[in-house]
Amino acid sequence: MPEALALSSAPPAIAPLSTPGQPRWLSRQDGVLHAEGVSLADIAQSVGTPFYCYSASELRRGYAELTSAVGPLGVAVCFAVKANSNLNVLTEFARLGCGMDIVSGGEMDRALAAGTPASRIIFSGVGKTRDEIGRALEAGLHQINVESAAELDVVAEVAQSLGRRATVALRVNPDVDAGTHAKITTARKDSKFGIAIGDVPALYARAAKMPWVECLGLAVHIGSQVQNLSPFRHAWAALAGLVRQLRAEGLTVTRLDLGGGLGIGSGAEPGPDLAEYARIIAETVGDLGCAVNVEPGRWLSARAGILVTEVLYLKQGDGAGFAVVDAAMNDLMRPALYDARHPVLTVHAPRGAAPLPCRLVGPICESSDDFGSYADLGELKSGDLLAFDNAGAYGASMSSTYNSRALVPEVLVDGDRFRVIRQRTGTDRLLQLEQPGPWTGAPSAG
Ligand SMILES: *Cc1c(COP(=O)(O)O)cnc(C)c1O
Repeated sequence: MPEALALSSAPPAIAPLSTPGQPRWLSRQDGVLHAEGVSLADIAQSVGTPFYCYSASELRRGYAELTSAVGPLGVAVCFAVKANSNLNVLTEFARLGCGMDIVSGGEMDRALAAGTPASRIIFSGVGKTRDEIGRALEAGLHQINVESAAELDVVAEVAQSLGRRATVALRVNPDVDAGTHAKITTARKDSKFGIAIGDVPALYARAAKMPWVECLGLAVHIGSQVQNLSPFRHAWAALAGLVRQLRAEGLTVTRLDLGGGLGIGSGAEPGPDLAEYARIIAETVGDLGCAVNVEPGRWLSARAGILVTEVLYLKQGDGAGFAVVDAAMNDLMRPALYDARHPVLTVHAPRGAAPLPCRLVGPICESSDDFGSYADLGELKSGDLLAFDNAGAYGASMSSTYNSRALVPEVLVDGDRFRVIRQRTGTDRLLQLEQPGPWTGAPSAG
């Protein structure tokens, strides 16, 4: 497989697709869907299917759009690494000065490897290990967001043992319903995340007295793919009330982390309005004099990625037509996990109306390996290429090798160039990790 490929011909002018809401980096040229200046059919030929394809221009454009909305308020942007943790994607953001929100030691390694200064990295997550906390302190991360009294004690102990003061914020559970799918809702009082808002003042006061802890602020994160912005207003207003209460008790609060969760539009749905998002930040926390940051993941990367797959077989079930494609739930888990639905584009111009809607399903032995029913793909044939849109967040980063399937390649397009930024990882590599012990009798994989 070629490591880097540069297509020599100059890209023709990109004609925008007519459907509203579609990412600008995808266009049809001579009937073939292109990612920026590169034909997706050419990439498929070169790297095989399925593969993820990201647009560097769209990543940069999204960051510029978000920072132009919230930057004037002094709000810093940290990319939630779990949405798309590919080193080359992180590098695009790091180069622009974007901070990172991480939830594991592995994500810390990636954020640092991408060139993000430790001073722009925030460590979130409900179950950090002692080892991860120690590594975060040694690296000198900007802040650790603490999610429980028990975790605060461990942070204090590790900080003392290393002789390094820990800068922390307390993650508040504001008991707000984000109005999104139950499996991506994180701030109702029955959720495992954060510290119940009523318990925060006492814990904050305790943290303020700890010699090895510097407790500087509060954090919230209410959920993901939030479409209606009013839950943000409720959560941030509650946070502001808490800041005033803590200050009245003589405590110092200088930092606020407002979390991620900003949803994207899909198809003809426009998605939340950034100006409104910024206005809510200004109205709820703008007068507190705190250093404020947000941690969007999906908003920054989802629309910059697609998953390209090939139709393997068409079959007629009882009452439904199926197209079995070569991508599966291990490659793109969101439909199985969250009932998510990704718009689908045909890579070649559609063949005219199909008689019936078609269910796109993967090869995995699970009924939930089902991407949903699509009416607008035209008549499909074996060998057709399809692209799942809005797959740049929680796509590749959630993928697994279930059914001993390979991790699929990730490709980054920039103008008329494309580059494989993660190679296909198949059983040849994975079997290396399963070398036999002396008594198991498994043959050596070589
Ligand atoms: C997942 C997560 C985010 C990002 O969520 P998006 O919906 O992708 O914006 C931000 N902060 C924390 C703490 C998270 O767990």
